[in-house]
Order: sequence, then C-alpha cells, then structure tokens
Amino acid sequence: MTEFRTGVGVDVHPFEAGRPCWLAGLLWTGVDGCSGHSDGDVAAHAACDALLSAAGLGDLGSVFGVDNPSLTGVSGTTLLGEAARMVAAEGWQVANVAVQVIANAPKIGPRRTEAEVALSTAVGAPVSVSATTTDGLGLTGRGEGVAAVATALLTR
Ligand code: MG
Repeated sequence: MTEFRTGVGVDVHPFEAGRPCWLAGLLWTGVDGCSGHSDGDVAAHAACDALLSAAGLGDLGSVFGVDNPSLTGVSGTTLLGEAARMVAAEGWQVANVAVQVIANAPKIGPRRTEAEVALSTAVGAPVSVSATTTDGLGLTGRGEGVAAVATALLTR
C-alpha cells in the first residue's frame, strides 16, 4: 500500500543592505539580499523544512543547527539537496514541492521558470514556485524582508 505524507515549511529573513540576494536558488541583482547565517534563501529554506516535516525528520534548526559554523554562508540549494537525500534515505520519494514567495521584491515572475529549474534540480523532483505580496501590510509589505511558505508531498 502506498503511503503519503505532506509537510509544511515557513521561513522569513530581513533584508540586509548590500548583501547578495539569493532567493529560490537564483542570484538576483538590483535588490538587497536577506541576512542570515546561511545565504538567506528563504524559498529554499521553506522547501527544506517542508521536506523534513513530511518525513517527520524535524526541521532545519534541529537537523543542521541554526548557527553551525560549518554551514556559514551555505547555499539554500545545498541544504535542499541534503534534505532531499535524507528523505530518500528513509525510503520516501518526493512527489512534488510547492513554494510561494511573499515579498515586494524581487519580482519572481520573469524568472519563475529559472527558479523552478534551480530548486527542482536540487530536490530531484518537481518544485513549483509562485509569488505574492501582502498589499503593503506586515513585514514583507513594508519591505523589511522576504517570507516563503512551502508544502511537500512524499510517497513510499
Ligand atoms: Mg532561513
């Protein structure tokens, strides 16, 4: 009998002036990046947490450590690949991951397909990327940072 598991992940980071902007596995120019111990890629981090959540393996903090020195500046796609490897080691196949970015900038639309390829390559399964704003409300609406939410579906 096929087993199914869903998982959820959320991440938020503040903008940091002058920092490179890594988001959804891509480098974005003309916009500040997000601060963080790693590369600050909230989309990749939310996707990681969704995969770990679905497999019951915990979360980024418990698996990798929030301030592990060996992970300083680590790319979100590297973490995502490692999360996918851990999930596979438990016998799960990733059916899909869906990520939604919540931010005023950068605008995802023109590079959405490119972002999907980058994240899908890291996971080894289809990752869809979408985006929204919050009509000026909250921390993303005020342009203070970027948020992302993700779901994952596993089968075994
Ligand atoms: Mg994060």
